[in-house]
Amino acid sequence: MSSTPPYEAPRGTERACPSWRSEAVYRLLYNNLENAERPEDLVVYGGTGKAARSVEDLETIARALQTLADDETLLVQSGRAQATFPTHEDAPRVLIANSNLVPRWSTWEDFHDLEDQGLTMYGQMTAGSWCYIGTQGIIQGTYETMAAVGRRHFDGTLQGKTVLTGGLGGMGGAQPLAVEIAGGACLAVEAVEAHADERIDVGYCQHKTHDLEEAVSIVEDAAERGEATSVALIGNCAETHAELLDRGFEPDVVTDQTSAHDALAGYIPAGYTPEEADRLREEDPAKHEEAARASMVDHCQALVAFQDQGSVVFDYGNNLRGQAQDAGYDEAFAYPGFVKAYVRPMFCQGRGPFRWVALTGDEDDIAVTDDLVTDLFGEDETLTRWIEAAQERVPFEGLPARVCWLGFGQRETFAREINDRVRSGEIGPVAITRDHLDTGSVASPYRETEGMKDGSDAIADWPLLNALLNASAGADMVAIHNGGGVGIGLSTHAGMMVVADGTADADDRIANVFNADPGSGIVRHADAGYEDAEEIAESTDAFDRWG
Ligand code: NAD
Repeated sequence: MSSTPPYEAPRGTERACPSWRSEAVYRLLYNNLENAERPEDLVVYGGTGKAARSVEDLETIARALQTLADDETLLVQSGRAQATFPTHEDAPRVLIANSNLVPRWSTWEDFHDLEDQGLTMYGQMTAGSWCYIGTQGIIQGTYETMAAVGRRHFDGTLQGKTVLTGGLGGMGGAQPLAVEIAGGACLAVEAVEAHADERIDVGYCQHKTHDLEEAVSIVEDAAERGEATSVALIGNCAETHAELLDRGFEPDVVTDQTSAHDALAGYIPAGYTPEEADRLREEDPAKHEEAARASMVDHCQALVAFQDQGSVVFDYGNNLRGQAQDAGYDEAFAYPGFVKAYVRPMFCQGRGPFRWVALTGDEDDIAVTDDLVTDLFGEDETLTRWIEAAQERVPFEGLPARVCWLGFGQRETFAREINDRVRSGEIGPVAITRDHLDTGSVASPYRETEGMKDGSDAIADWPLLNALLNASAGADMVAIHNGGGVGIGLSTHAGMMVVADGTADADDRIANVFNADPGSGIVRHADAGYEDAEEIAESTDAFDRWG
């Protein structure tokens, strides 16, 4: 493969590696680079999340995979192939550890120091564990949250409901499409017109306006007709939201994905055009931060006022509440974070982001598996609605892939069916994987494990055990990372991948891994005292719980 951009994942049935198990890892590595934000720096996504430490390291990893036998295991340490050891056929083919530091040294300062010495790299979540599938993951995750809001508050759907949000950037840009797929009408306020234009160009947002009244009437009219739509309103949330309140707009749901976590680079203060904010950032960063935080207080106050007037309001992991509180607004935490409110109940049932990649590059393989998953779980309306919308509106990026959230039991059933189809020759080999954001695989006190019932937010034993268990159960790749989307020292998380190559041995590995992986999440949540998880743990005979 090329060791300079543009990178491309190999397609077809001819392999560069000894088996589909080593070939799968090889193709996923190049698929990450094919989808990379900055391939010239090997950066896949999330600012600095890399696939390999350097171009030389990429070449060495590729060479190591090309000779990796099915009774050997390759060790990859922060983007560098270190050694291949003899192991056995059911052991992982590849073990990865990225960005991990001894806790006392787990700070950005120490990390950057070590990175500058060429000793480590930032792996993000799926960047350094080679399981990134492009923007489909974030669209699906956002949809899953919006669908959960519909199920919890509005008889199962957002149809006929209006959603107000802010920010149409890298991740936030998925919101209008996600709301539409969930059936709702989305009004998204974005300060930078070019960012709104990008979302409109790719079909993630339908309309754009500078006129507040027009934006409101687009979503209200659509909601009244029960139609899904989306509109980008060009403006600043710290100003528009107060005005929307004054004019009596009553959105059913309110959230936000401006980059409020970063008062300097992520949030544009009220009273400044984006260009003026750029200048202020350069000339007087402290003033920019102060102005941004003051605006965040207004923004957050508006969200609390929407909640007071009856809207469902939740924080979308951007720390708007924390910033507003630091700037003196005591009521900032009046509304909940999205994980605690909507994602954790799914985690308690072992439900999480199951994803699969057609390794030969044949799009028909995804069509077959799309049919399979909807046949198997047709009663799950959230799932069937997603698969239909994804087929219509979410283009493949790199190797054809699909993601959908599946629960404990469902994952094993579906993965085994995929392997059956590979065996019968109906489809080519498939890599089955997931995000690190999942039920048993992450400890992240500011996000996935915020506010655990028993206070165990920062306990990182669980993702480490999850990784060890997946390796013991027969996963083909297992990864342990530090940092992810929240930063060095703030999270520990694990990834995994299993190859469905149609063999009987793969049946066994799949059965064990897709029991163990979500099962460890059930156990984690049962241990924290969540009743749903306790019930599943007690009723299943798939594992024995001692805790
Ligand atoms: P981004 O920086 O790419 O986009 C932020 C957008 O907000 C930009 O388009 C910017 O122009 C706009 N913006 C900034 N200030 C504004 C203001 N005052 N009014 C209106 N628009 C404004 O960031 P992103 O990748 O889209 O992520 C957004 C935020 O959401 C981040 O803080 C991220 O951490 C958070 N997030 C968290 C999760 C999670 O917890 N899993 C998931 C998605 C996003």
